[in-house]
Amino acid sequence: MSLTQVGFTDQPFDHLYLLPIGAELPSSTSKSFLNQLNATIKELLHAFPMEDQHRIAKLTQLPVGVFPLAVVGETNAYPYLIQPDYFLWKKQKQGLQLTTQTHHFDTKNLYKLSETQLKSYLELQLTRYAFTGKLISLSRKQWKAKAQAAYSQNPFIELAREKRDVIEAVEVLNRSMLLGVLNPPEDVAFWRHRVEIVLRPYRALPEQARYVACKHPIKLEISKSATSFTVTCEECDLQYGYYPLSDQVVLHEEPSIEQAKKRIATIERQFNDLAEGTPKVIKALQKLQQVQLWTKNVATQDILGPGHQLVASIREAVFPHDLIEPTLLSFQHVKLTTIDSLRFVQPYLAFTKEEFLNVLQDELEQANHTTTEVSKSEVVYFSTKGYELMEEEVDVIEDYLARDENMTFHLLIQVLKGEATSKVRSLNLHTSPIFGLLRPWPKKLIPQAIKSFW
Ligand SMILES: [Zn+2]
Repeated sequence: MSLTQVGFTDQPFDHLYLLPIGAELPSSTSKSFLNQLNATIKELLHAFPMEDQHRIAKLTQLPVGVFPLAVVGETNAYPYLIQPDYFLWKKQKQGLQLTTQTHHFDTKNLYKLSETQLKSYLELQLTRYAFTGKLISLSRKQWKAKAQAAYSQNPFIELAREKRDVIEAVEVLNRSMLLGVLNPPEDVAFWRHRVEIVLRPYRALPEQARYVACKHPIKLEISKSATSFTVTCEECDLQYGYYPLSDQVVLHEEPSIEQAKKRIATIERQFNDLAEGTPKVIKALQKLQQVQLWTKNVATQDILGPGHQLVASIREAVFPHDLIEPTLLSFQHVKLTTIDSLRFVQPYLAFTKEEFLNVLQDELEQANHTTTEVSKSEVVYFSTKGYELMEEEVDVIEDYLARDENMTFHLLIQVLKGEATSKVRSLNLHTSPIFGLLRPWPKKLIPQAIKSFW
């Protein structure tokens, strides 16, 4: 079905082609308005280069000099301009499907425009048609693919891709407890402040479209300015401009590339300076990394002694594959479960593997020989009905609670009693150092014990 088959059979205007969309032929009042439109279109088209006039005709498949106009409405008919995109991909449709529900109209109320406004509005629309006429060589699918490829080639997206490791490392470290141990604190504060500024344009991009174009379905519309497509991904809530003639994407906020390059290099360098300026921390981290490797197969309870306490504290810690270096890219792979590990490792900084394993052995033997006498010398923190809660045990529980903000009173009872309920297991609490700590206690007494420090 071609456009000329769905228009009114009676076409009274020589420069307008009226398409009825649920409407009858307009009344005599609108006819005089249509006369005015007809005259304006004629005048405007006349001033357009012949090349453009032919482009428009090729696009709309109407004779040169004739412009399509939809007459939309049930009882009251309004003349609306049809979006040029509609004609662009007409070939892909099974015939024309303009309905009152379609988004194919520019629903500007033409009656409300002054003569000058109407003229400039129509001129812009003709320009959009002429521009769209240049795009007919490719299908919608092909233009979409080109727009997405151009998005990935946008200089800022390219920079983001190139600096992805730094950007992601900065995000990780910005939330890391390690920042709190770097010196001097005012430089750390300044660094964090810079990070907020430098990362803002990257954060403004949706995660799935930060380093390359996203893979979601996108929507293409001819922009109001008639020089580009407006590309929309609803999934990402992202919109950008694609200029098909120059094959370029312009982002909503286009940061200066030179500045962005300098800025990202600066925050990386500033972090490295901070790390290098804190050799004590580097040394401690490197030793923690070693101790974790040395004690992979050592079963441990931190109550046995400071050596075991250290080992237990880094049981779940993560370190990079290679030896830790004072750089942003190396630091991002360090994840301590408690910052106390840095303190616990201090006595052992110079220890070799053998020396450290001896420490653990000594602690173990000492614990095995612990007599009732020794345990009596421990401070009783709370006691009820012959059951005693030692101060040391409270310390362990409190240390643990300081790290687990989600622990509830009820759950803590189960954990201390050593009940591996499905809830406890789902939260992995059955592997926590406080699991079963009060196992010998009758369950009903445990709440009282908890209340003594909760
Ligand atoms: Zn998307």
